[in-house]
Amino acid sequence: MKNNSKKIFVKSLSNKFPTKDITLDDQKDKLKLSTSKKNIIVDIGDGVIFGKKEIPIIAGPNGIESYNLMRKVAKCLKQNNVKLIRGHAYKPLTFPYRSSQYGETQDLGMDWIDKIKKEFKFKVVTEITEIRYLERVCRTADILQIGSRNMQNLELLREVANTNFPIILKRHFGSSLRDFLGAAEHILVEGNKKLILCERGVSIPHTHRDTSRFALDIQAIPALKEICKYPIISDPSHASFWAPWVPSLTFASIAAGCDGLIIEMHPNPKKSLVDPLQPLNFNQFKNLIKTSRSVAKSVKREIN
Ligand code: PEP
Ligand code: MN
Repeated sequence: MKNNSKKIFVKSLSNKFPTKDITLDDQKDKLKLSTSKKNIIVDIGDGVIFGKKEIPIIAGPNGIESYNLMRKVAKCLKQNNVKLIRGHAYKPLTFPYRSSQYGETQDLGMDWIDKIKKEFKFKVVTEITEIRYLERVCRTADILQIGSRNMQNLELLREVANTNFPIILKRHFGSSLRDFLGAAEHILVEGNKKLILCERGVSIPHTHRDTSRFALDIQAIPALKEICKYPIISDPSHASFWAPWVPSLTFASIAAGCDGLIIEMHPNPKKSLVDPLQPLNFNQFKNLIKTSRSVAKSVKREIN
């Protein structure tokens, strides 16, 4: 009798404690939208679709540093048949000190990327850091990116969701998959189903190089796919922070089943105003795309 009541007590508490694992109860209750069984595709228009056979590539520098830089990037992307350009005009930094050369280009940066978008017919992916920038960002962007550092900025999630724009939600580098899907659920509950999840590396005790900040959680891709039917993309650049590792992590992400990629590239990486160790140069980018096409083919996916 005593033993039995103990068993019942443990059972009734089994899903009441915070946990990092996603239980079956979570899937029915707390995460019912993000773990729904219906396959979701996110259609950006003009043939750019996340969640089907094709793996769209999003590429560009870290920040929209200048119009000329974005023009050079745009030409290289066109040569490699990449349809989504990235770059941030508003940018959270880990530390509050900006170098004398680097400031956010903000509205001016948005005007430059707007011009590039119209001239080259790109889809634009850019980060939204604060609600007050939403109006300007929505005038140009095709996909709003919510950065890792804002993954649980719930007010921002809600307001961004209510624009009904497609959203890339980046996983925080210290977040469990349960908390990641919890953040996703905050977007979905607003009625916005144009959600793309992004794995971008997690903090672990060591990464072998002091220049490497995070480790790409490749396992997150198949793990999320098991329970979540929203597209999952990978960002090997921000994960490794180290350009020489980006190709292998890209190929591994494709093999793991990712539905898209974010790759940082720059005409002259050393001169990149933030994170200069991370972007690929144009030649490295071209080679990356070429090999990625064969890797995609070998797992029955496609990069055009
Ligand atoms: C970025 O995409 O430029 C970026 C800052 O990413 P994250 O939020 O993953 O660090
Ligand atoms: Mn960056």
